[in-house]
Amino acid sequence: MLKYVVAVFLAIVLLVFGFVWFTGKKVDLKLVRPVTAVGTATTVSVQADAQHGTKYFSAVLEQNGQSQTIYADNTSSAQRSRIYTFPVGKKVDEFLKDGPARLILTAASNDMRGSTTTISQALQIILRAPTVVADGMQHYINQGGAELVTLDLGGNWSAAGVRVGRYSAGTFPMPGQPDNSSHRFSLFPFPWDVSPDTIPLAFARNDAGTEVTTTFWVKLFPKTFKTSNIELKDENLQKVVGELDPDGSGSLVDRFVKINRDLRKANNDQIYQLRTNTVNRILWSGPFVPIKGTRESFFADRRSYYYKGKKVDEQVHLGFDLAQTRNMPVTAANSGRVIFADRLGIYGNCIIIDHGYSLQTLYGHMSRIDVKVGDSVTKEARMGASGATGMAFGDHVHFSMLIAGVQVNPIEWWDEHWIRDRILSKIGSPQDKAAAVQAPPPASPTEHARKRHRH
Ligand SMILES: [Zn+2]
Repeated sequence: MLKYVVAVFLAIVLLVFGFVWFTGKKVDLKLVRPVTAVGTATTVSVQADAQHGTKYFSAVLEQNGQSQTIYADNTSSAQRSRIYTFPVGKKVDEFLKDGPARLILTAASNDMRGSTTTISQALQIILRAPTVVADGMQHYINQGGAELVTLDLGGNWSAAGVRVGRYSAGTFPMPGQPDNSSHRFSLFPFPWDVSPDTIPLAFARNDAGTEVTTTFWVKLFPKTFKTSNIELKDENLQKVVGELDPDGSGSLVDRFVKINRDLRKANNDQIYQLRTNTVNRILWSGPFVPIKGTRESFFADRRSYYYKGKKVDEQVHLGFDLAQTRNMPVTAANSGRVIFADRLGIYGNCIIIDHGYSLQTLYGHMSRIDVKVGDSVTKEARMGASGATGMAFGDHVHFSMLIAGVQVNPIEWWDEHWIRDRILSKIGSPQDKAAAVQAPPPASPTEHARKRHRH
C-alpha cells in the first residue's frame, strides 16, 4: 500500500515537473527603442517578456576582441514583462573606441527550465561630437515671420537645423552643393506662439544623439496679434456641420466646436506632414503676389466664437481670408509644384504648393480646383475658383504661407527688399551678399488691413 502511494506520489511529482519543464517558455527580448549608435552615455532599454517572468538578465559589450559585462540583474520576478534600463558609452565603458561594436543581451526565464535567450545588436560607437558654426550676420526677425541662417557643420553630424522654442527647422545644402555638403542653411520660422524672448538655437546632432548648439546674432521684433469675435448663427452651424460632420450626434453648436477643435488640429497635422515634400532648390522668383481681393483677417488673429451670447470656443486663425466676388480666380502666389489638391477638412477644397526649401503656400475653401498633384504652376497662374467649402460661411479664399510646416505671416514674402536682404543675399550671388551687408535693418512690416465682416 505504502509503495503504491509513494509510486503515485513520485509519478505526480514527475508529471508536474515535466509539465513545468515543458511549459517553461523562452524569454522574448527586444530593444524598447532601436539603438544603432552610441556615444559617451546612451540609455538603452530592453524589454523581456516571459510567461513566468525572468530571473537573470545581462548585457555584454564586445569591441576589437574585448568583451565586458556592462550590466547584470539577478533578481527573479514573476512579472511577465520587465524592462531593463542601463547606460552604454565611453563614460561607463572606458575601453570603447570609435568604430563598430556588438551588444549582446541575455535573459533567463523564471521557471524550472530557466531557458536562456540571447540577442545581439551591432552598434556604431561615435565619440566624436558634431560641431556647428553659424554665420556672423545680423538676423532681424519678426515674431510670426521667417529668417535664414547659414551653418558650417563638422565632426560626425547627421542632423542639424534651428530650434525656436518647441519648433525646429532642418537644413539644406547651399545651392549648387551636394546633398551631404556641410556648408548649409536653415530657413526657419519664429512661430507666432513662441515667446519673443526665446533664443533661436542652431543645433547639430550625431547618430549617437550627442547634440551641440550655438547662438547667433538676432534682433527680434515682437508683435501683438489681434483678437476678434465671431457670432455663430444657426445657419452657419448647419452649413458647416452638414458638410463636415454629417453623421454626428449632439447639438449643432457642440458638433461645430468639435470640428473647430479636433478636425482643425487633424488638418493642421496633415499639413505639417507635407513639409518634407519639398525640393532642394528655389522654384519661385521675385516677390510673392497676394490674391486679388479684400483682406478680411489678420495673421494669428485670436478668434472667440460666440453662440447666443455665450463664448463657445477660441481658435487662432493663421493666414489671410480674401474675398471679392463669388468664384473669383484663385492664383498661385509664386511659381512652384502642386503637392496637394483635394478636400482637407475645415480648409475645404484645398491646394498646397511647394516653392522649394520647405517654403509652401496653401489655398482653401475653393469651389473648384483646376490643378492636380505634380503640376508645375507659374506665378499668378489661375488654379481654380474661390468658394465656401469647409469651415467657411461665405465665398472667400483662405491663404497661408508655411515654412518647415509652420504657418508664418505672408507679408514678408510680398516685399522684394525683405526677400533680397533676408533670404537671397545669404544663399545667392556674391553681389547679393555684398549688397545685404550694406543694407540697413528693415523696418518691421506693418499691417494694412481693411474692414473685416466675414469669419
Ligand atoms: Zn481663413
